[in-house]
Amino acid sequence: MTESSTAAASTDVDIVIVGAGFAGMYQLVRARRAGMSAVVLEAADDVGGTWYWNRYPGARCDILSVDYSYSWDPELQQEWQWSERYAAQPEILRYAQFVADKHDLRRDMRFNTRVESAAWDDTTHRWTVHTDNGDDVSAQHYVMATGCLSMPKVPDIEGTDQFTGDVYFTSTWPHDGVDFTAKRVAVIGTGSSAVQSIPLIAAEAEQLTVFQRTPNFSIPARNGPISDERMADFRADRAAYREEARHSAAGVPRETPMEGALMVSDDERRARYEAMWEAGELLGVTGTFNDTLANADSNDTLRQFIHDKIRSTVDDPDVAELLCPTNHYVGTKRACLDTNYYETYNLPHVRLVDIRSNPITTITETGIDTADESFEFDAIVFATGFDAMTGAIVGVDITGRDGMTLKQKWADGPVTYLGLMTSGFPNLYMITGPGSPSVLSNMMVSIEQHVDWIADTAEHLRANHLNTIEPTRLAETRWVQHSNEFADLTLMPTANSWYMGVNVPGKPQVFLPYPGGVGRYRATCDEVVERGYLGFALEGPAGRTVNDGIIRELKPDVQVMLETMAEMELPPLETMGVEGARAFMEAAGAGMPPGPEVGEIVDSTLPGADGSTLEYRLYRPATDGPHPITVYFHGGGWVLGSATSDDALCRYLCVNSNSVVVSVDYRHAPEARFPAAADDGLAAATWVADHATELGGTAGPLAIAGWSAGANVAAVTAQQAKIAGGPTISGQVLLCPVTDGTTDRPSHTENADGYGLTMAVMNWFWDHYCDPETRSDPKASPLLAADLSGLPPALVVTCQFDPLRDEGDAYADALAAAGVPVQHLQCEGQTHTAIPAVDAMVTSEYARQAMADALGSFLGASVSA
Ligand SMILES: Cc1cc2nc3c(=O)[nH]c(=O)nc-3n(C[C@H](O)[C@H](O)[C@H](O)COP(=O)(O)OP(=O)(O)OC[C@H]3O[C@@H](n4cnc5c(N)ncnc54)[C@H](O)[C@@H]3O)c2cc1C
Repeated sequence: MTESSTAAASTDVDIVIVGAGFAGMYQLVRARRAGMSAVVLEAADDVGGTWYWNRYPGARCDILSVDYSYSWDPELQQEWQWSERYAAQPEILRYAQFVADKHDLRRDMRFNTRVESAAWDDTTHRWTVHTDNGDDVSAQHYVMATGCLSMPKVPDIEGTDQFTGDVYFTSTWPHDGVDFTAKRVAVIGTGSSAVQSIPLIAAEAEQLTVFQRTPNFSIPARNGPISDERMADFRADRAAYREEARHSAAGVPRETPMEGALMVSDDERRARYEAMWEAGELLGVTGTFNDTLANADSNDTLRQFIHDKIRSTVDDPDVAELLCPTNHYVGTKRACLDTNYYETYNLPHVRLVDIRSNPITTITETGIDTADESFEFDAIVFATGFDAMTGAIVGVDITGRDGMTLKQKWADGPVTYLGLMTSGFPNLYMITGPGSPSVLSNMMVSIEQHVDWIADTAEHLRANHLNTIEPTRLAETRWVQHSNEFADLTLMPTANSWYMGVNVPGKPQVFLPYPGGVGRYRATCDEVVERGYLGFALEGPAGRTVNDGIIRELKPDVQVMLETMAEMELPPLETMGVEGARAFMEAAGAGMPPGPEVGEIVDSTLPGADGSTLEYRLYRPATDGPHPITVYFHGGGWVLGSATSDDALCRYLCVNSNSVVVSVDYRHAPEARFPAAADDGLAAATWVADHATELGGTAGPLAIAGWSAGANVAAVTAQQAKIAGGPTISGQVLLCPVTDGTTDRPSHTENADGYGLTMAVMNWFWDHYCDPETRSDPKASPLLAADLSGLPPALVVTCQFDPLRDEGDAYADALAAAGVPVQHLQCEGQTHTAIPAVDAMVTSEYARQAMADALGSFLGASVSA
């Protein structure tokens, strides 16, 4: 390891680092390795950060120590052995001190030094950082390693300063400890610090009264020596274990569960929850099933399980009920790990006061008054938490370009690119900042990743003779949007949590961390760099280069689906053979959510254009009929699929348009090539129109709809019906339609691969369906029809990441140009296969609703022919 000496006492350095916790310490190491001068400014009188300040009884990590430790020094992993599964604060602090000694870090650190303000100078391209002892530091790069949980929340209780007894804050606990023997003690708060300290305070105190506003979920830590079994993977290959952690969901190697909680039997579910309860690992709580944080009903099964555990532990049923969290889902607030927390309430000298029903009115000279009662205490312990994630950052008065302050910029909530940087503040970096996985992860892994990214970036600037780096507005706005969209897929934003800033009066309520996971986030940061610092402006003597762009344009659920498919490493569809591809599509469809219940389903047949038998499935709404009818054509490239292959979407359209949906099959290629499918479309629509009353529908105009090749059949059917003079079609809903035989539109090349439908498959479909020379026939390529006027009104839905996007867009434009009333819905961030995935792809719900609304309005507005 090469670590060159730096100018610690210098006031003019390459990198100024604020904070000497685990983040600041490692950032210094990386600066030294790069041969950059650096200084660390720290308010405390030693290293350790969180573990320097939080010395309350019972303070310990809640991620196993083997995971919650540095990976950047391989020797350290051999030199340091943790004594317990979850090391206590003194041991973690000793670890930080051991690292500081080993790497001689303190020589570049200034302790008892609080940074008060910092200002960017656009002419020198440097930050000037002002400290409370008058020292200024000038630096090219300014790193806020100030911690996510380092700014204690000031208690907002009236009379706090009147109390004449002893007052303690868990976050700034006295270094010599506290003896509560023979004391009457109050603890205010029941978050993680309170849950850890209450059993130990109760063990000493004469009386302990806990004031609780909101109970939290907690599971037993089962602390003690770590088992050989749990250490096996780590010992077998430390480097591989660490690498797995870096690419995992939360920074700890864990198997990803395949099932949702409601997919297994009650006994199986309970057995898995019991195993989680026995294992005593925080990430296991929401990691037992894959939908705990996304599905309220699934989460409820876990919630009930923990409630039952609380009820079976706490003797007094009223106290037990008060300890059962009911106003949030498990994991939407940080869950706790405890040792004898719930058992403590069985002790005769421990009392729980519910301040929701009996609020604290004031703190008095001698104790605490609630609405119903006056309490006398010798000591009050505030376990009231932190101004999380942003508190320490905006706690420094930071002024960027053009005199803008960070406080002003973040008045409505933090805006960052990747949680690392923010526009208008060049060369200012945040470690584990808002918009990064941060507090949702094993923070040691997240800290190391950020430190490395920042150090690599500083080196990149130096190597390329650049002075500054700064994100673009577009990049950061879209990153915040992406992170919020991820959060909206989960139950997280439903809780009044510090993740949302709700615990601090006046703080903007936005979901602060990035919920997409550590591995996915790391891949994103790496990709930003690989793509030439996409979303950043870099400036040097040679000028300013703006590489503007959006790193994640796919909607998050679509992104996750594509990643899952990529991980499966399936052979391309076109290599499976026709029968193999058909079997594969059927199996894939069977694994999707079923869609809503409808009133009735009828499976039957109707005659095709050549007299052959075509299967159909009729979906009838549960509402009183008769209903108007939609004829639906399934997707599958004229080769795959059936009357039931788009079942979930047909159910959805039936229920939400309140129409009978008749999903008709058509003859498939290669057995029946062009124009079989096109002819069957018209034949089927005609038959349904002729038999509307027998089918239980209303006689009169039909609506038609279809997806992909089925939308091609639908569009062709509308054209053929016009030419043939019937049946009367009141409207057409075309989802991602194939509209011509071209392969060279921008969407064909931009989205050729990686978004579900590939151009290779599309070409395979075309080759099976029709010869290149016949593709110009409007019955194959409806866009090429000579006259589109007089066609029924249309909703054309296209998706940004679909090879067929531009064909659909062109058809919508051509219809409109011909005077056809057209709604054209261009879905951002969606793919060809996303919209039919009812209940699986949440972000495309609006598109499905638009399709159902269009059908409803076509059918409602129709007049008989
Ligand atoms: C009680 C508790 C238990 C935790 N347990 C876990 C756990 O088990 N697993 C986990 O992943 N995370 C845990 N965390 C989160 C923990 O904060 C991080 O894991 C990690 O220690 C953060 O390191 P850091 O260096 O980023 O910040 P910190 O350790 O918070 O260090 C920041 C430092 O910056 C200094 N500072 C801040 N502002 C200024 C300023 N203006 N001027 C000068 N100095 C300043 C502070 O004094 C502090 O020393 C826990 C947090 C708490 C409070």
